[in-house]
Amino acid sequence: MRKEKNGMKSVDFRSDTVTFPTQEMRNAMMNAKVGDDVYGDDPTVIELENLAAKMLGKEAGLFVSSGTMGNLLSIWAHTNRGEEIITGWHNHIIVHEQAGIAQICQVMPHVICHENDFIYPEDIEKNIRPDDIHEPKTTLVSLENALSNGLVIPLDIMKANYEMAKKYGLKVHLDGARIFNAATSLKCDVKDIAQYTDSVTFCLSKGLAAPYGSVIVGNKEFIERARRHRKMIGGGTRQAGMMAACGLVALKKMTKRLKEDHANAKYIASELAKLDGICVDVEKVQINMVFFKFDKKKFNDKKFVELCKTNNLLINPSNDCEYRVVTHYWIEKKDCDLLIKTIKSCLKNKK
Ligand SMILES: *Cc1c(COP(=O)(O)O)cnc(C)c1O
Repeated sequence: MRKEKNGMKSVDFRSDTVTFPTQEMRNAMMNAKVGDDVYGDDPTVIELENLAAKMLGKEAGLFVSSGTMGNLLSIWAHTNRGEEIITGWHNHIIVHEQAGIAQICQVMPHVICHENDFIYPEDIEKNIRPDDIHEPKTTLVSLENALSNGLVIPLDIMKANYEMAKKYGLKVHLDGARIFNAATSLKCDVKDIAQYTDSVTFCLSKGLAAPYGSVIVGNKEFIERARRHRKMIGGGTRQAGMMAACGLVALKKMTKRLKEDHANAKYIASELAKLDGICVDVEKVQINMVFFKFDKKKFNDKKFVELCKTNNLLINPSNDCEYRVVTHYWIEKKDCDLLIKTIKSCLKNKK
């Protein structure tokens, strides 16, 4: 048992955003050197931004409230009003950010639809607008890695997309909320992914367990534009070093252990794959997410929901007979066993 669980009894499989800070983060927060970040003199924020930029191989970084704010500021800094951006149909900026890119950046999304949510170089080339007085200008490609369906885009596709974008003078932004998971899965450095982008947003507050924040990285000019916009939307913060201190622990420590979460996810998937009435594609479990479908005739879902309550298991409601389970720092192997056991006991034709 992780000793520092602070008396939390529930086993929370809903997301990796539920990760509360570790004891080391709480200590770091207590001892953080702070300044006023709007004046630009909070040393801990500066340290976090510099470390993030260095780790991702970019010139500069900017500490922001959330991944949503990071994507908004990035796309805003890269584009002008009325331009068009190529992105994916299920991408977070399309589905989960209240159309901020339309409301605030005033750009138009040109969405690519593929079943696995991948975007390929030919999609970019095909969908760039011609230089025609009637049409908007295409100026940016916005990608996601890892994808929210749990898949990771291989480096060769990242590279080919980047080269295609550059051939036509387009910028590339990456929503890398879980870029450290993607790098873990690809067994590469985050830099190897980030080299095929002009900017990246990543979250400290998901699998990296910090209580707050994301960082965007890119060149200095891009970061300065984003910094001005951040102030405009009320995102200039004062003693933000309290939060950045947790972010530093997240970057230094938590990025190195994500393979444990991935192994737990694989373990759950491979155990569930053995069950008649549960369908899971083990090959598609590439990060810390497992999606499994149940057969209504063979699985008592009502009982499962009740048993989860009794066993203190938290899981999001199913969608079209499909559940998503997410592993993270506060989930251990024995918690996975409890989930598997609970699922097994809800099969109708147990032998
Ligand atoms: C979580 C997430 C975000 C947004 O992060 P918040 O901090 O929740 O605003 C953006 N993109 C992807 C792919 C995400 O998973």
